[in-house]
Amino acid sequence: MVKLTQHRQAILDLINASNRHWDADEVARALSDAGQSVGIATVYRGLAALEAAGLLDSIQLADKKRYERADKAHHDHMICTECGHIEEFTHATIEALQLVAAQERGFELSGHQLTMFGRCKSCSQE
Ligand SMILES: [Zn+2]
Ligand SMILES: [Zn+2]
Repeated sequence: MVKLTQHRQAILDLINASNRHWDADEVARALSDAGQSVGIATVYRGLAALEAAGLLDSIQLADKKRYERADKAHHDHMICTECGHIEEFTHATIEALQLVAAQERGFELSGHQLTMFGRCKSCSQE
């Protein structure tokens, strides 16, 4: 187990205690609400270090990253560009076709990330 600084441990505990996808500002705000003031630069560096250590996963958005627990079962994401809603999903056919695409290219697959952008059900009904 990696030895974590107190700040990094606090960031990891916060994210591991939820199912959300956090950005750095939200992490900084939640820590400060919990009485732990951690500078935003420290939060950014901590998130990056925790991801590099395999302790967090991330999704790359146009302007920022969002982080989530690394111990959830594999899933992909649909992100609403209007309200920011993040829908987790897995689709058996998509999973299988990615394997086929890799095999056809002699590519040894070790993982994948799939992020789909658009409007969620409630935004598209408005
Ligand atoms: Zn939406
Ligand atoms: Zn997720």
